[in-house]
Amino acid sequence: MSRSCIPEPYSAGIFLTYKCNCACRHCLYACSPRWPADWISEEDAGQVLAHLAQAMRGKYPFPGRVGVNDGLHFTGGEPFLNFDLLLRLTEKARRLGIPTLFVETNGFWCRDDATTREKLRALKEAGLHGILISANPFILERIPFERTRRAARISREVFGSNAIVYQGFFFRQFEQMGLSGTLEFEEYVRRAGHGMRYAELLPGGRISYKLTHLFQHYPARRFFGTSCRAELIREWHVHVDNYANFVPGYCGGLSLGDARDLPALYRGIDLDERPVLKALLTDLEELYRLGLAHGYREREGYISKCHLCLDIRRHLVRQGDFAELQPTEYYDRLED
Ligand code: SF4
Ligand code: SF4
Repeated sequence: MSRSCIPEPYSAGIFLTYKCNCACRHCLYACSPRWPADWISEEDAGQVLAHLAQAMRGKYPFPGRVGVNDGLHFTGGEPFLNFDLLLRLTEKARRLGIPTLFVETNGFWCRDDATTREKLRALKEAGLHGILISANPFILERIPFERTRRAARISREVFGSNAIVYQGFFFRQFEQMGLSGTLEFEEYVRRAGHGMRYAELLPGGRISYKLTHLFQHYPARRFFGTSCRAELIREWHVHVDNYANFVPGYCGGLSLGDARDLPALYRGIDLDERPVLKALLTDLEELYRLGLAHGYREREGYISKCHLCLDIRRHLVRQGDFAELQPTEYYDRLED
């Protein structure tokens, strides 16, 4: 039997939901308003948080200091769509002693100063250490920039240096452009498209279907001979979704197993039961062969190995029952 052990994570994110008020063209997790309003249950979250608290214990010399790849973050989807749940999970995480805790948001809810301040203070009192506010040309298509600015200003007031704007480059660029309201991506490119050189875009997820024109294309064979072991089996910035799937890093639509029982994953997962994962841990060519065996046909080109991987997985999920391709709805939401 072929097995692989998952290491104890020292940093992780928990998706409260895949539902989002936006459907950004660069979203790795294919979030959108069309997902059902499924939220992580407090019972599941409690089990996952308890395991994560144990895995993180003693690994943070400066607890409470926020960094993108440190500690635990609540994310999605948009966590502020269910503020009460976010608040209760924050309290739970604090009680369990999670060393560093922040939330990621697109800032849609920052419609006025008073409400923004009230919510952020309530979260801080509940035990949240910081916040990450998204700023980029795709968010700007849906979120009026004045809300992002308000989110950043009041977050700094409440959380000080633990308020992160990601990416800071775009935030400063939008300020210099004097933007307010929203802006279509094509208009942004026309006016200030040189900024895209600084975009930290991971060429996977929805990008593979919505933004391929920004990238050069290659035949599938260019990506043969590489495995994804480093991305799949790692201890930093892993995710657990609201269905308790253990999502490796940035690989949306893949599940290493049930995160409510993390110790079972540390002991090892059976790869013979998960042929897609087994192929990805070996060589992208193996995944390609698996795809061909199930009727997959090569596209004209791929922008990255993640595009190739995702396109094959999207085909496979329609062909059969693959336990590691979860949640299956992810594959339906890629072109939202
Ligand atoms: S990138 Fe963020 S804001 Fe955009 S759809 Fe995904 S979760 Fe929502
Ligand atoms: S190719 Fe697939 S498994 Fe590998 S990093 Fe990209 S999305 Fe993840």
